[in-house]
Amino acid sequence: MTGIEAVGRAVTECSRCPRLVAWRAEAARTPPARFAGEPYWARPVPGFGDPAARIYVLGLATAAHGGNRTGRAFTGNPTAAWLVRSMHRAGLASQPTSERRGDGLRLLGAWMGSAVRCAPPGNRPTPAERDTCLPFLTAEVAALPRLRVLVCLGAFAWTTALHWAGARPRPRFAHGAEHRLESGLVLLASYHPSQQNTNTGLLTEPMLDAVLHRARTLAEP
Ligand code: SF4
Repeated sequence: MTGIEAVGRAVTECSRCPRLVAWRAEAARTPPARFAGEPYWARPVPGFGDPAARIYVLGLATAAHGGNRTGRAFTGNPTAAWLVRSMHRAGLASQPTSERRGDGLRLLGAWMGSAVRCAPPGNRPTPAERDTCLPFLTAEVAALPRLRVLVCLGAFAWTTALHWAGARPRPRFAHGAEHRLESGLVLLASYHPSQQNTNTGLLTEPMLDAVLHRARTLAEP
C-alpha cells in the first residue's frame, strides 16, 4: 500500500464528526426519487486520482448524493460532470464523464478531493468540522510528492487552504487568484462549478478551462 492509499483508507474509517456521521447516513436513508433503491457509500470519501499528481483540485465537501452515494470524489452529480469535462479538455482526465467507481475514469497528473470528506447538511460544514478534517489534507499533500498547484473550487476551499497553510495575510478570493506558499505550492482559485454558479453563468466553461490551463502551466517542471 502506498502512502496515498493509506491516507485514503484512514479517511474512509473516520467518524470524528458526529453531526456528519449522522448526516451521511441520513442522506443514504432518504435519497431523492432518482436514486431510490441505490446502495449508498455513506462514509467519508477519500481523494481520487494519480499518485504522481502535480495538480490537486480541492472542493468544499462531499456531495450528499454525489460522492456520498458513489464513494468517489466528484462523481455522480452535475458538479462532477462539469468539472471532469473541463479536466478532460485540459488533458487531466482520461474521459469526459465521472459517473461511478469503476467507470474507467483515470486522472492524469491530477488529484481531486474535498476539504471536508463527509456530506454536511445544506452543504455547509462548520469551522470545527473543517478543522477536524484538515489533517487528511496535510497527509495527502505529504503523500503526493510532485504536487505543485492546489486549485481551490470556491471561496470555502480557498479560505480553507489559506487557513491550512497558515498564510498571512490571506488574499481575498477571486476567480483566477493565485497565492504562492512558502513551500512553493501555488494556490489557484476558481468559482465552484456548482449548479448555482454554472446555471447563472457566474462560471462558464471557458472560465474553468482557463483556470485548469493556468494550473497546468504553473505545474510544469
Ligand atoms: S468530515 Fe473528515 S474528520 Fe469529519 S468525520 Fe468526515 S472524514 Fe472524519
